[in-house]
Amino acid sequence: MKTITLIPGDGIGPEVTEAALKVIQAAGVQINWERVEAGAQALEKLGAVLPQTVIDSIKRNKIALKGPVGTPVGHAFQSVSVALRKKLNLYANLRPIKSLPGTKSKYEDIDIIIVRENTEGLYSGIEHEVVPGVVESLKIITEKASTKIAQFAFRYAKEKGRKKVTAIHKANIMKLSDGLFLECARRVSRDYPEIQYDELIVDNACMQLILNPHKFDVLLLENLYGDIVSDLCAGLIGGLGVAPGANIGDDCAIFEAVHGSAPDIAGKNMANPIAIILSSCLMLEHLGEAEVAAKIRNAVHKTMAAGKKLTFDLGGDGSTSEITERIIEELKRRQQ
Ligand code: NAD
Repeated sequence: MKTITLIPGDGIGPEVTEAALKVIQAAGVQINWERVEAGAQALEKLGAVLPQTVIDSIKRNKIALKGPVGTPVGHAFQSVSVALRKKLNLYANLRPIKSLPGTKSKYEDIDIIIVRENTEGLYSGIEHEVVPGVVESLKIITEKASTKIAQFAFRYAKEKGRKKVTAIHKANIMKLSDGLFLECARRVSRDYPEIQYDELIVDNACMQLILNPHKFDVLLLENLYGDIVSDLCAGLIGGLGVAPGANIGDDCAIFEAVHGSAPDIAGKNMANPIAIILSSCLMLEHLGEAEVAAKIRNAVHKTMAAGKKLTFDLGGDGSTSEITERIIEELKRRQQ
């Protein structure tokens, strides 16, 4: 039986990860979950937001399923999610943005892949006060990380039969940093003549994504733009409740939804578990269980299309547990 690290996280994290575990079990996959804690609770109980046991567990098991972990704004602790990505060199953040049937959103048939550099840029966390009243935050862009993420995007595009990669940047202003990111993307694009390559300035890209999202295919972005554009794209398909993700490195991978800990709805059995359930599908594919992943996705699609007991963010009156039960019912119906 495969052992996988489970980080339930905080806020809505424990509720939605529990839902994902139930669905995976109902799909017939036996997993030994190694539960570890990170975030504010770990700080209280264990004296660290990211205890070494978490890192050791992921390094040992190579794969983790993670709920969101809240990060206080301002001073206090650094983001656990950002620290994990850096410590384990999970350089690629893959976020497929795909319309689900029956979603009340402005568009249908959206199918965009976000590939976000996950280890550097403005998320390097190198900030200091130069003199009182003046602070500096360093944006680190390296040729190595930019080339690696561009290679990931083009390799992914080729493997999945995608047609185009769009690099998104602000190299007109940040000539050196975003300039280097673009230079690396251009260089890698030459190794993939079968895949169309183009570039867009990030502000224009945001407008075009809202006006005409169907013209986009694979987006390649550095860390901050990738984070912002992910939420924008989640908005195109009905919101954060349905946007899955994966953090992938050469040795390990962590699967988690795009959304955060949503403290406004935490503990109320209101959160939509679909984003983490679809993240689990990405995890199952990574484990070579593509057939089970397809079965779960299908059950999610059927549940969405039926439109009953959907959570509030999808316009329904269902709870986290009710929508999870419906997905499990759909799964079982197909297994009979
Ligand atoms: P958020 O994603 O938690 O919430 C934004 C909005 O979307 C809220 O209104 C929330 O209720 C809604 N929402 C999010 N997930 C939902 C779901 N599954 N179902 C229904 N509605 C959902 O973003 P935020 O409020 O900016 O951040 C809250 C905390 O989460 C912060 O501390 C932030 O640092 C943290 N965060 C963590 C991660 C992570 O662990 N990967 C990612 C993003 C934010």
